[in-house]
Amino acid sequence: MEYKNRTDHLSQFLGGNAFEEKLLKVLLENSSEGVALVDWRGNMRRINRAFSRMTCRPHEDLEGKNIARLFPEPADRVLLDEIVETLWQDGYWSGSVHPKCVGRQENLEKFLKISAILPSQGKVRFFLCQLSDTRLLDKNDESVRDNAKDPLTQLATRALFLDRLEQAIAGAKRHNHSLGVLILDLDRFRLINDSLGTQLGDEMLKEVAVRLTRCLRTSDSVARIGADEFGLLLTDIDEGTGAVRNSGFVARKIYEALAEPTRLGFQDVEISVAIGITLFPQDATEAASLLKNAETALDHARRRGRNNYQFFSADMAEAARQRFALESSLRHALEGDELRLYYQPQVDLKTGHVFGAEALIRWIHPERGMVSPAEFIPVAEETGLILPIGEWVIRTACQQIAQWQSMDLPPIRVGVNLSALQFQRQNLVFIIKDALMQTGVEPSLLDLEITESAIMEDVEKAVKMLGEISELGVHLSIDDFGTGYSSLSQLRHFPFKTLKIDRSFVSSITENSGDKAIVNAIIAMAHSLDQKVIVEGLETEEQLAILRALNCNQMQGFLFSAPVPAAELTKMLREGKRL
Ligand code: C2E
Ligand code: MG
Ligand code: MG
Repeated sequence: MEYKNRTDHLSQFLGGNAFEEKLLKVLLENSSEGVALVDWRGNMRRINRAFSRMTCRPHEDLEGKNIARLFPEPADRVLLDEIVETLWQDGYWSGSVHPKCVGRQENLEKFLKISAILPSQGKVRFFLCQLSDTRLLDKNDESVRDNAKDPLTQLATRALFLDRLEQAIAGAKRHNHSLGVLILDLDRFRLINDSLGTQLGDEMLKEVAVRLTRCLRTSDSVARIGADEFGLLLTDIDEGTGAVRNSGFVARKIYEALAEPTRLGFQDVEISVAIGITLFPQDATEAASLLKNAETALDHARRRGRNNYQFFSADMAEAARQRFALESSLRHALEGDELRLYYQPQVDLKTGHVFGAEALIRWIHPERGMVSPAEFIPVAEETGLILPIGEWVIRTACQQIAQWQSMDLPPIRVGVNLSALQFQRQNLVFIIKDALMQTGVEPSLLDLEITESAIMEDVEKAVKMLGEISELGVHLSIDDFGTGYSSLSQLRHFPFKTLKIDRSFVSSITENSGDKAIVNAIIAMAHSLDQKVIVEGLETEEQLAILRALNCNQMQGFLFSAPVPAAELTKMLREGKRL
């Protein structure tokens, strides 16, 4: 269909003003971008020279003709349909086109942006098409590819995703639409990379990309925005609660699409993900804030366990803000000498004598006073600050042991808590050796407490590292036993000498016969592996009597003493305080 009548809305649109018409012409002709003014029927009403040059067609072949002639092939038609549909929905489309140029060999790629021109009143009657020379895509041209497509998955990159998000926001603002932004993160991807190799890790990412693409409609987009993070932009969703329902639906669709195990090498691997969701305009109206919200929601989803999605909420933002504040003051704490070690005595149940103590960190905050490790250790773990803090704890505990040794007191073994991250990242063996050497402390007086979950994250590595530490002569204890999922038989492979029964069992042991039976079994098992058993959080004489009857070896708890500063423990040791 060609355009015949030149006197309809265009002159109205231009205001019937000859000067404006002239100005428009000058602007158009001097633009290096190809520009076409297209009416709602698809007729190109004005085009400039650059447009004609870039499409390799003479002016008269274009102006007044329908834009469909630029899309002659069947594949082009599919693209044109997509463009038209998106334009009616969002008022905006952008992407690559490949105009055919007679007598030219290379693949001429141009970048086309079309946006609806919104009249002050009435219907949209005109669209502005802008065509620009993107550089010829050369397979070796890293910079072009890096900026647009992720070479591994062929998905858009973070930069392009952000760009699309900004465009979608502009469209959604004009049309009062809602948008959904989802960020998806693969659970335990690092583990897959480490255990199966990066090549299979890459295969998995590609597979995820394919499955995600299948979940989305053409108007939505998906991008790889981090090593194992994907961004999804949902443009066609309802408003208000409908937006929540729509995005939740897509999240569930993604879980279903990923649920089918993937064959990687010789094994089937299940893909599980955490998803954070935020909505425009409810949660934020700027691209950067939306991404930040989605990351915050993702963080919450991750913490709730595997295969989980979370919508962003204002509470989350407040919690994130507080965490951030805590993080920055924690950094300062380490430099500003605000951290202290307290020591909680450990008592032998046969003799009643103190034989050791657990070093427990305290943060003396200049404004808040004493902050519990339960509050700041998780933040330190997430931010990696636990590495310097953990090293400080090891060195300070060793100095304290040396000081007690120099005071002519009975030898005291000091337990130090280790975090999973120290285990994975730090050169622990070196730090421990160095701390012992610097202080001249007998290795058997240092006791390292490790939780089940820390070793189960990477069993092979844990076996190796704990073997090396134990060879130094350092004592090893398993902390909070009973709260993790490790099987008892697995623990045989580790050189633990002491098992610490978690506090949660002790508090219920007097009421719950089931817990008593479990504690009984744990003690019997530990003894059969030649391990001592210490019970944590012992508070009452009644609990003490039961644990004595069950043959527990040692205790630590408020019944004897809460954690105290080193000087106070020194006093107890001097006075020979007994249970
Ligand atoms: P944990 O290693 O299981 O430490 C035992 C916790 O139980 C301590 O809490 C201790 O004060 C508390 N407790 C001891 N006896 C009783 C009792 O009779 N009743 C009750 N209700 N509680 C008792 P705290 O000091 O708040 O430490 C909490 C956790 O923070 C520790 O649990 C440990 O996981 C972590 N933590 C403490 N210091 C460090 C450290 O230097 N490094 C690392 N990575 N984690 C630490
Ligand atoms: Mg502990
Ligand atoms: Mg414990």
